[in-house]
Amino acid sequence: MSYLSHTNRPKLELHLHLEGAAPPAFIRGLAREKHLDISGIFDADGHYKYTDFWDFLRVYEAATAALKTPQDYHRLTLAVLEESAKSGVIYTEAFISPDFCGGRDVTAWREYLHAIREAADIAQATMGITLRGIVTPIRHFGPEKARETALCAAETAGDWIVGLGIGGDEKSGHLSDFKWSFDCAQEAGLHLTAHAGEWGGPDSVRSAMNDLNVTRIGHGVRAIEDLALVDELAEKGVVLEACPGSNVALGLYLSIRKHPINDLYKRGVKVTVSTDDPPFFHTTMQKEYENLHAAFDWDDAFFDQMAKAALDAAFCDADTKTRLDKILEQANA
Ligand SMILES: [Zn+2]
Repeated sequence: MSYLSHTNRPKLELHLHLEGAAPPAFIRGLAREKHLDISGIFDADGHYKYTDFWDFLRVYEAATAALKTPQDYHRLTLAVLEESAKSGVIYTEAFISPDFCGGRDVTAWREYLHAIREAADIAQATMGITLRGIVTPIRHFGPEKARETALCAAETAGDWIVGLGIGGDEKSGHLSDFKWSFDCAQEAGLHLTAHAGEWGGPDSVRSAMNDLNVTRIGHGVRAIEDLALVDELAEKGVVLEACPGSNVALGLYLSIRKHPINDLYKRGVKVTVSTDDPPFFHTTMQKEYENLHAAFDWDDAFFDQMAKAALDAAFCDADTKTRLDKILEQANA
């Protein structure tokens, strides 16, 4: 198996924050157009600058301030998908938040969604990449705002908005505080995922599974600190949206080699790989594959199997899955 071939294989990404994937040059250009001074969030090389996870959240929200209209999100979507397509990504599920898109007002949210979907259609036709949306309550904005966000999600649930997945500061409140929002989304037919087991320990992963009834967990990797929980994840077939580069960049693990993704896999947990907020963490899907190959000797067959696992765990409809499966089959033939 050749080293470089991993990079050319079709990839599916299940955990990507749309604003967090914004290329810094795109955000700088947008801020210039709007006469906004957000120069403080960039380093001398033009990359996003932050000190730790909580500072990262601050910088993230400052960058997002440049995104003010549906048209901005249209352009953002195209810029993000262009970068993903360069890494061979054929399918992405992006976290999108009515908090940033229209202030949780359903009518405004629909306008943003329309603009994002139009851009996604263009990307599908011109770059061969499919996008679906997961509505994201922001945990540190609190349960009340999350309810409004969940109602936006329920109103627009369907073929394109496919899930609900809480993000933000995992140390803020308890996941069970958001149960109403998750129940509301589930009743509307949405699939469920939650950030847990990144800054919180095994208990947060248990809470996501038991209190919120999720089928996937964003990160979830700190489950490794409790092997009974690891067995439970494996038994229930809960899928982890692992983002190794993100965890290393934010100091959760010292290196990819020290990251538990391989141990979780060996213990039977369904793991997938995503980039989270790629320009913040100096990563791409291509780099994730290269780093995992270097750290754990994962080969083409392994990556292909993981792409299939991601397809199984994707929240999109059956017809879309069949179409994507054909692309994977052709690539592996
Ligand atoms: Zn995330």
